[in-house]
Amino acid sequence: MSEIKTIVIAGGGTAGWMCAAILAHYLPKSMRIHLVESEQIGTIGVGESTVPPFLELIRRLGIDEQDFIQKTQGSFKLGIRFKNWRRKGEEYYHPFGSIGGIIEGQDFYQHWLRAQALGDDAPLQAFAPATEMAKHHKFMLPFKAPRTPIAAASFALHIDASLVAKYLRGHAEANGVTRHEGMIGQVHHHANGFISALELSDGRRLEGDLFLDCTGFRALLIEKALKVGYIDWSKELLCDRAIAVQTENVSDPHPYTYAEAQDAGWRWRIPLQHRAGNGYVFSSKHLSDDDAIKTLMAQVEGEPLMKPMVIPFRTGMREALWSKNCVSVGLASGFIEPLESTAIHLIYRSMDFLLRYFPGTDCDENLIRDYNLRMAGDYAEIKDFVVLHYCATERDDTPFWRDVQAAPVAQTLREKIALFRENGSLREGVDELFRAPSWQSVMEGMGVRPRRHSPLVDRLSEAELRATLDAARTQLPPFVAQLPGHGDFLRTHCPAERPKVSA
Ligand SMILES: Cc1cc2nc3c(=O)[nH]c(=O)nc-3n(C[C@H](O)[C@H](O)[C@H](O)COP(=O)(O)OP(=O)(O)OC[C@H]3O[C@@H](n4cnc5c(N)ncnc54)[C@H](O)[C@@H]3O)c2cc1C
Repeated sequence: MSEIKTIVIAGGGTAGWMCAAILAHYLPKSMRIHLVESEQIGTIGVGESTVPPFLELIRRLGIDEQDFIQKTQGSFKLGIRFKNWRRKGEEYYHPFGSIGGIIEGQDFYQHWLRAQALGDDAPLQAFAPATEMAKHHKFMLPFKAPRTPIAAASFALHIDASLVAKYLRGHAEANGVTRHEGMIGQVHHHANGFISALELSDGRRLEGDLFLDCTGFRALLIEKALKVGYIDWSKELLCDRAIAVQTENVSDPHPYTYAEAQDAGWRWRIPLQHRAGNGYVFSSKHLSDDDAIKTLMAQVEGEPLMKPMVIPFRTGMREALWSKNCVSVGLASGFIEPLESTAIHLIYRSMDFLLRYFPGTDCDENLIRDYNLRMAGDYAEIKDFVVLHYCATERDDTPFWRDVQAAPVAQTLREKIALFRENGSLREGVDELFRAPSWQSVMEGMGVRPRRHSPLVDRLSEAELRATLDAARTQLPPFVAQLPGHGDFLRTHCPAERPKVSA
């Protein structure tokens, strides 16, 4: 066994350049990192909503957050606003950060459940600072407001996908990554099946010890060359296509991702500083492309800036995300519909695990097994969380929603819901992306309410409970009301350049 000296990254979308930037940042300078991408193929051009750990990544890479937001036309995201998911006309928020906090050593949610049982009717989200800010289109960096009612809020970013790849490319190249423009034609193997080189269509060869497959849905290395197989989750999540279109902004960007259920899926709106991203994620069994385009275009606000783009996908993940000396990352490794904006998160999770389990040239099976286990755990957690948004629906007004109600639900999720229904307990795993406030928000939004609360919160007197909740809910709205509007905050602190208008 010898040490890995050369890494070849196939593909230069968000996945390829993010991997390149991370590896170049953490690995020794002597490591040679090559990236090959094809302008002819281009990138998928969507993937613009993130989750809070994304900002940690930016900071870890030593990137200036303000500069990043300005150059990627970024806006802030305090959570997701879901409309029409449980029933038509209803909406709820999944906010980032905590809700309420800890009272007398017990989770706020349990105190809130008890208050509800005692007749209090304040919704759970009245105690979530990120929801209150999102609802009123206000923004302030919560860590700049310690000991205030919004201190425990958290946030992520909305970003322009192509500008992010460009930004990360600059960062990676400045750190020594070599870019090759070209079309990958053939994949060459050693006798043991390991990949030895990528041959470009003009005959150039890129040899390496470790290969990252970041070729998007094409999955050129992990699937076309290594044929690892695919675990298909399309029976649990029925949507298999998306229409995406960019439009002009008609007002200041709202500080949340908008996800509105439709007759055969759901549509998103992600507002950036210079434009908005929109899309309709739907099931091709229930709706044609043409009808999906018509439905989406009838609902978007602002003039379209491009022709609607159709993106087919198959929900699931590779049987092995890492096989031999090839690690698949991004869309090449699998895809769960973007309802909770988790795909970009899985890219840097892959790199965290790859660096933890960094192999020698023999790519020891023990490292591969553990890497695959950890990543599969992340995929399964996210899939369960996304399915929760569907399986608890009461909608039966269209064939799609009736099929959603009849769709199979994984045992892990069924058990999670059953446990939660009993007394609000959550089976939290190790290092999961979605923590208790996320599950509580979506459970509550979808009408899954525990039968009873924990007796541990009954130690607090009823009067103390009411006083604590009253204080929380009366302090938050006036505090949020005097914060800057999200648009004003962006203009003051991180205004992006106006896009150049072509003549
Ligand atoms: C509808 C939709 C909405 C999404 N929304 C979100 C979201 O809100 N949040 C989120 O986190 N994620 C989202 N995602 C996922 C996100 O878009 C991807 O995870 C992210 O963009 C990474 O894509 P990628 O780099 O793997 O693939 P791509 O962007 O497709 O890049 C593939 C790269 O491989 C190169 N390539 C392919 N074949 C060859 C070849 N033969 N030779 C040379 N180069 C080649 C291409 O040129 C390109 O550079 C969404 C995905 C979809 C489909």
